[in-house]
Amino acid sequence: MRASWYDQFSDSPDVLRSEGIEPTVVPVLDFEIGGEDFITMAGPCSVETEAQLMATAIHVRRGGARILRGGAFKPRSSPYSFQGLGLEGLRMLAHARQETGLAIVTEAMSEADVPLVAEYADILQIGSRNMENYALLEAAARSGRPILLKRGMVATIADFLRSAQIVLECGNPNVILCERGIRTFETTLRNTFDAATIALLKQITHLPVIGDPSHAAGHRELVPALARIAVAAGADGLIVEVHPNPDKAWSDGEQSLDFAGFDAMMRELKPWLALRDQFQADTAEAEPMEAA
Ligand code: PEP
Ligand code: MN
Repeated sequence: MRASWYDQFSDSPDVLRSEGIEPTVVPVLDFEIGGEDFITMAGPCSVETEAQLMATAIHVRRGGARILRGGAFKPRSSPYSFQGLGLEGLRMLAHARQETGLAIVTEAMSEADVPLVAEYADILQIGSRNMENYALLEAAARSGRPILLKRGMVATIADFLRSAQIVLECGNPNVILCERGIRTFETTLRNTFDAATIALLKQITHLPVIGDPSHAAGHRELVPALARIAVAAGADGLIVEVHPNPDKAWSDGEQSLDFAGFDAMMRELKPWLALRDQFQADTAEAEPMEAA
């Protein structure tokens, strides 16, 4: 790694790649994030009803997702928008896990919510708006659950890594970084998908990195293309919004894929994932692992 990057990210020494440090592989149920498999997390923006969640869980599982996403506590840009079902939503997520075997990722919005969310979730999501909420990061880290850390919408890479460092410093090694688009001067799309950051993070950190094409694009038409870009940039997985009837969704319907859209995205990703496998095999051959 470039020496200047060590200086630039010197606040976050534990997240940086260095000799002798193996890439972090996060164990979740019976699989891993950051290992060989590309992991898809899919589901609605918000948990709305038992029927909505279960139909989505069954569908995305069939399509190859390993993790069900869905917010029970929602950080909304407007205080007048739907704020989430809270505990009732968490119970629906746990029921979906029981029925489908999918792992659950869901957001904890405040320090006070962490124990409850951690009881139901396999992975705690820290949302963009909370990336620098250090009290929340510490509480989430201490829950012992893996942390899906979403990049703040105006966070630099150094800011992002600093937040990951806090989780590691609290004794929790299982951090997954998520690029979900940042604010720029461009307003046509909801955010600007910073794919270069995915590539950079894969070079400078040992943590798994995933892409969120849904919040980056804001429009479902762009989601499959951004998913392909995330794979090409070296992401370890995706988190994507899927809803049985996006036009009726209680949040983020505009960017949610319907079931057919999700199936098409997964189908179109296949050749890109095959290239990823090939690339991983070639890289492993070029740099044989040292014997222990
Ligand atoms: C979400 O995942 O629904 C969400 C609110 O994401 P972000 O924090 O990236 O805006
Ligand atoms: Mn959303």
